[in-house]
Amino acid sequence: MKFDLKGSFTFSDNILSIKEEMGKFISDFNENLLKGDAEKRAEIESFKIEKKSLFFNIVSHGSFRPHNALLQIKNSISKELGKKHHIGVREIKIDSYEIEFDLEKKPLKEVDIPFAEVKLEGKKATMALTNVDEEFLRRNYIDRMINRVKEKVDNQYYEGKGEYWKSIWESEEKEPVWSKDPTEEMVKLDWLKQGPTKGKWFYRPQAAAILKTMEEIAIKEVLQPLGFQEIIESQIVPFDIWLKTGHLEGMPSEFYYVVEPATRDVEKWEKFVDLTKITKEVDFNELQKNLSVPTAGICYAQCPMIYWSFKGKTISEESLPIFVYDKTAVSGRYESGGRHGIERVDEFHRIEPVYIGTREQLLSLREKLIERYKHVFNDIFDIEWRMAWVTPWYMQQAGKIGATGEQDCGTIDFEAYMPYRGDRKKSEWLEFQNLSILGDKYVKSFNIKSQKSELWSGCSGIGLERWTTAFLAQKGLDPDEWPAGFKRYLKELPKGIEFL
Ligand code: ATP
Ligand code: ZN
Ligand code: MG
Repeated sequence: MKFDLKGSFTFSDNILSIKEEMGKFISDFNENLLKGDAEKRAEIESFKIEKKSLFFNIVSHGSFRPHNALLQIKNSISKELGKKHHIGVREIKIDSYEIEFDLEKKPLKEVDIPFAEVKLEGKKATMALTNVDEEFLRRNYIDRMINRVKEKVDNQYYEGKGEYWKSIWESEEKEPVWSKDPTEEMVKLDWLKQGPTKGKWFYRPQAAAILKTMEEIAIKEVLQPLGFQEIIESQIVPFDIWLKTGHLEGMPSEFYYVVEPATRDVEKWEKFVDLTKITKEVDFNELQKNLSVPTAGICYAQCPMIYWSFKGKTISEESLPIFVYDKTAVSGRYESGGRHGIERVDEFHRIEPVYIGTREQLLSLREKLIERYKHVFNDIFDIEWRMAWVTPWYMQQAGKIGATGEQDCGTIDFEAYMPYRGDRKKSEWLEFQNLSILGDKYVKSFNIKSQKSELWSGCSGIGLERWTTAFLAQKGLDPDEWPAGFKRYLKELPKGIEFL
């Protein structure tokens, strides 16, 4: 790595008269800095004095950042020369800042980032920053910019590569009752109605009964036996929560954003009301005038808000492990081209258990959760399904999760065979839920502590629409054909409403 910073200090007064003293100060400063180990070495390579200004050039080849030296130099100058000569640094200016660093892989194409011009040559990257102010340096953007360039180059190698997938367990093959798409058939029967906007559904009594049964089974067969306690969270997630979890940088194109009115002042809304009454249409231009910019989004997954609720808390040893779940917040995701039936929708109902505890507590919980889930999918649903290790984007990028076999941290996907999609070997199976242990990633970002134990956390996303389609795709819509275990929970459907 090489850092090359050209900048200047503007003093409160002319400093030509103390040129020599300034020279001595700089060589002393260099001496002191140079005394550090080679890794930390930096040097003021040249300087020039013009009236009130001191121009200089700081170069570092190691881990020491010249911009961090700036404030140090400023402080030393005021200590050593300031009082004696009644001068002070009024302004710090950086004219150019060039940072050269090595990349692990040779970039496949150009990379752009904000605040700098990036040049790539072989495995070498150069970032040229211009017009950098003190605030910019203080905020530690530089290191994040270096990381972002490295990450973008790494991503060029991931592109087009599927998620890592490794089978852990498979049920035996099961003969499906039919091979139709359950959503289409339920629509034909009027159990379900396509919602008023993209990727939303209206569940009439029959479909609602099935979805609600899934919820009941999840709670009674999985969560309650393991001691999970229900919590109720807010549906609207402010950006600062997603900044901490990484969702805001991870999936900004999938959120449903929430805006607040800019005002409740009736007078300000009067024109909009007039226009609505007269035209019976929505005047979006007028509406926009009274709306704020979004500062939040609709729940994407329930866990971020649960972690937020523990932010900064120290949990007593007796309360560990914490097992809680939310089943109230509805998830919103802009799925765009991927939408299909009720299995890939923009609005869905999930139960999300979250667990916080020691590594041992969570590894043991994972075994128990898997056991309970197996019981549901084998003994109650009687479906053909499998489990696989997968590595989601954020773990892959953080390089935190090894891609080999048994592991402490990581995500297990649960997938079901969907007969309507074709051959069980060739068709894509449906991920109907997952289970993750994420190490200390979230407890660290939300500063959640215990009295003495090191904490880990994890979550499991139980998608009720996904459970429903996985079950119906194999077992059909006729309750008589459903397995006995499921019939214990739902043996007949509500009569529903007849349309003429
Ligand atoms: P996919 O790869 O299918 O998009 P995902 O990896 O985005 O899923 P997660 O964020 O891991 O899903 O969410 C966990 C669970 O939430 C899924 O296993 C599924 O049950 C449910 N889920 C996610 N997205 C949807 C959706 N668009 N419609 C219905 N359920 C969903
Ligand atoms: Zn989660
Ligand atoms: Mg998704």
